[in-house]
Amino acid sequence: MTNERHAGKNKRESILKKDQFYLPEGVIYLDGNSLGPMPKAASSRVNKTVEDEWGEMLIKGWNDAGWMKQPSILGDKIGKLLGCAAGSTVLGDTLSVKVYQALAAALAMRPDRKIVLSDSGNFPSDLYIADGLLRTLKSGHELRVVAPEDVYDNITEDVAVVMLTQVDYRTGRMHDMNALTKATHDVGAVSIWDLAHSAGAVPVDMAASNAEFAVGCTYKYLNGGPGAPAFIYIRPDIADSVEPSLAGWLGHAQPFAFDLDYRPAPGIERMRVGTPPILQLAALETALAIWDGVSMDDVRAKSIALSELFIEGVEATCSQLKLISPRDSSQRGSQISFAFEHGYPAMQALIAAGVIGDFRAPDTMRFGFTPLYLDENDVKRAVEILADIMKNDTWKQPRFQKKGDVT
Ligand SMILES: *Cc1c(COP(=O)(O)O)cnc(C)c1O
Repeated sequence: MTNERHAGKNKRESILKKDQFYLPEGVIYLDGNSLGPMPKAASSRVNKTVEDEWGEMLIKGWNDAGWMKQPSILGDKIGKLLGCAAGSTVLGDTLSVKVYQALAAALAMRPDRKIVLSDSGNFPSDLYIADGLLRTLKSGHELRVVAPEDVYDNITEDVAVVMLTQVDYRTGRMHDMNALTKATHDVGAVSIWDLAHSAGAVPVDMAASNAEFAVGCTYKYLNGGPGAPAFIYIRPDIADSVEPSLAGWLGHAQPFAFDLDYRPAPGIERMRVGTPPILQLAALETALAIWDGVSMDDVRAKSIALSELFIEGVEATCSQLKLISPRDSSQRGSQISFAFEHGYPAMQALIAAGVIGDFRAPDTMRFGFTPLYLDENDVKRAVEILADIMKNDTWKQPRFQKKGDVT
């Protein structure tokens, strides 16, 4: 019994990898949902890539340092966290570009249908990209955007593609991926999931969902650093028949044959476009190494515990803040949002006091919970600092009113 309890404790402790991240002195970081912190190993790894690989090997690095294979090798590491079969996930470009590729490919699979269904909780870039693509196609397509709670009822026989972000970036509300994918397939439509706020945040099983496409970014909960490349997954049974809209040379079956005609590479490799970002991939490699052996179920359990502690603490001490995330932990991802009319200056005051979250217009104060580098003491301290700011109206100070370019 004692041993079992001891083993259980060790298992829980193993999720906390605080010593592997660099966090500035005095900072409690509750914004890993937007940009994860730097793995301590990142700077020496990037430096090695710059000096020993780029510097010494020059162009030989593509072969000798394995640069060309990095998008697939690291893609598979991410795929493993998301229940994707090996060889079905690849890295490159930004998430906005990956959304474009997935949607164009999905539309080509349903040429007789014209509706793309999404929801108003989606991240604007996904909707802008969809709108731009449909306008370019000039084939009478329509982007139908409904309220998140109305998605299910709007999955009808005329829909070509259902394109959703699983976890709402504002409120943390989480869609039921398996149920919505099933409804999508029941009407003969194609399913695309954006996992930007899911990857590294909640357990995902792409294979079990049976969805055709998934995309996501690697700089949020996966901690790959600013500008880290995005990932795209295609269900293995259809990957060889997907038509790449961005037919770049590195998605060609034989890039170095320099054929004038495009022939897509087998499987997911066809979603590669151009030269991969080697320095970013070097940083991402160190971030993904931290996830080795980490169970997403353990991360989820701890994320819920930390989130509950935060909600309880804030509701007990900050009556001005109103919870806008689902209260039921099974209905949300790994972030908690509160509405407060003066959320912007309040967040600035909080950041000045060392607790970093962020603000989303018009009134949302957003906090991410990331068990790899946050523990109960951090959360309790964050609540104390926030309570102090609210009690003393610290946020009313003029220095907290000025808006930056990035909020
Ligand atoms: C963060 C995020 C993006 C950002 O896209 P980039 O092209 O990487 O800037 C897009 N979509 C969703 C759902 C996001 O959460």
